[in-house]
Amino acid sequence: MKSSVMNSVVEHDLCIGCGLCAALCPQDVLSMQWNRYGEYNPVETSPCTTECGLCLKVCPFADSGENEDTIGERLYGAVPGIQHRSETGYYLASYVGYSERHRPTSASGGMATWLLEALLTEGVVDHVICVAPTGDPERLFAFQVFDTPEEVRTGAGSAYYPVEMSEVIRQVLEVPGRYAVTGLPCFLKAIRLAQQRNKKLRERVVVTVGLTCGQLKSRHFTDYVAALAGVQGEVTAVRYRGKSPDQPASNYHYVFTAADGEEHKIFWNEGISEAWTNRWFTPRACSYCDDVFAECADVTCMDAWLPEYSRDSRGTSLVLVRSQAMREMVERGQGVRLDSIPVERVIQSQAGVVAIKRQHLTCRLYLDPQGVPEKRVAPERPKNPFLRQEVVLKERMRVLSRDRWGAGERDGKHLREAMGQDLRRLTAGRQISKIITFPVRILWYIRRKVGGNNHG
Ligand SMILES: Cc1cc2nc3c(=O)[nH]c(=O)nc-3n(C[C@H](O)[C@H](O)[C@H](O)COP(=O)(O)OP(=O)(O)OC[C@H]3O[C@@H](n4cnc5c(N)ncnc54)[C@H](O)[C@@H]3O)c2cc1C
Ligand code: SF4
Ligand code: SF4
Repeated sequence: MKSSVMNSVVEHDLCIGCGLCAALCPQDVLSMQWNRYGEYNPVETSPCTTECGLCLKVCPFADSGENEDTIGERLYGAVPGIQHRSETGYYLASYVGYSERHRPTSASGGMATWLLEALLTEGVVDHVICVAPTGDPERLFAFQVFDTPEEVRTGAGSAYYPVEMSEVIRQVLEVPGRYAVTGLPCFLKAIRLAQQRNKKLRERVVVTVGLTCGQLKSRHFTDYVAALAGVQGEVTAVRYRGKSPDQPASNYHYVFTAADGEEHKIFWNEGISEAWTNRWFTPRACSYCDDVFAECADVTCMDAWLPEYSRDSRGTSLVLVRSQAMREMVERGQGVRLDSIPVERVIQSQAGVVAIKRQHLTCRLYLDPQGVPEKRVAPERPKNPFLRQEVVLKERMRVLSRDRWGAGERDGKHLREAMGQDLRRLTAGRQISKIITFPVRILWYIRRKVGGNNHG
């Protein structure tokens, strides 16, 4: 039997559900469906007879021989003035700021929606592919193809919810035109791999707008937080990045609409952060991801999780540019307020995610390498016992949350009780570690003036 994504990726629980394999399958035998964990996976609708292996060649979690370094080098390595950092990949320039118009409805400073709109209005692209609410409780968000700025604006905000690209990629293959696509790092890697093998995708996807990413969440995460917020029964809509004038940007809130039309609000510090930072309901693939800044994207947007910006409730964006065209577009930006910011500050704003995708990853690869393709960091026996403890406990909680909800035990109170011991051990470990490392941290603080991110 020849290798396919089914036996090489899905079976090892390493599928992130991007949908590129299903879109590109020449026999059309793969279909994206929910698995029991509330994540998307391909399923084989009829037996594959040609075994061409194309599915594996476009999968971001297969051993394709190409990683973000080689893809980045091919795309941006020759851009005049380009620089490279191991944390960010290639970059030409970095900015901090916002779009006054888009900020109120956007996740951060609204730069992603501003960019997508500008690409349309300046005639750089004919279509924008981004994620927007659907109104369907079975699939609250989906990738959609939009042709007007008004439509693009309906997608503003972050979807901490599974979305897959098979339908929109099929549309790109059918309908000629120039497309811009937004996506998380792994999704854009899949698009880049697919572009290598498909001429239409290569010619038609002309701009990629990446989002920095720490982890994805299953649809069960939304159900869990909705229940915490007091929703009984089905959620018909959710907005994940509500802003309040009396709260810092970091204490954003989710607003759920229940089936009876009532809205339920819950803040980051009322239970979201516990599930988010401890990696409850996170797919296994995210534990083996080493791309923080969407290294295969022409431009990447993220939150400015830096002390001087995160206090501003209205939200501020950081933008990392890799292509000359995107740099020019950002610099002539109409209606945006942007300043240059050193790339070190951009990295610092994501210090928590960088640690997870570098130091923690070396430890995870050492402890559980099953089925994992080669990564850009090597497995390493953890020397720091607190780091090892953190990785082990969070992985246990990730698995427990996923298994329980997946088995139909959907009781948030019981889940939190089951997590209690691990949460207490994690807190105790952190406190001891803090005491031991206090002198080092003082020196660190003086040198770099704190930063870090554990948000999405
Ligand atoms: C799962 C996830 C994890 C993230 N983790 C981090 C993190 O660790 N650190 C950080 O700084 N930022 C993270 N982000 C990005 C952050 O939430 C904002 O999307 C980013 O700062 C852009 O904000 P904005 O105001 O410029 O964008 P907006 O103007 O709000 O526009 C966002 C654009 O992204 C699209 N979009 C939303 N959700 C998705 C999705 N799931 N897949 C593809 N496109 C989508 C929307 O359709 C919209 O076009 C994450 C986003 C997601 C979805
Ligand atoms: S990660 Fe994407 S390409 Fe790979 S198996 Fe999953 S859906 Fe298919
Ligand atoms: S953490 Fe990595 S694998 Fe997970 S969604 Fe983000 S980019 Fe994809």
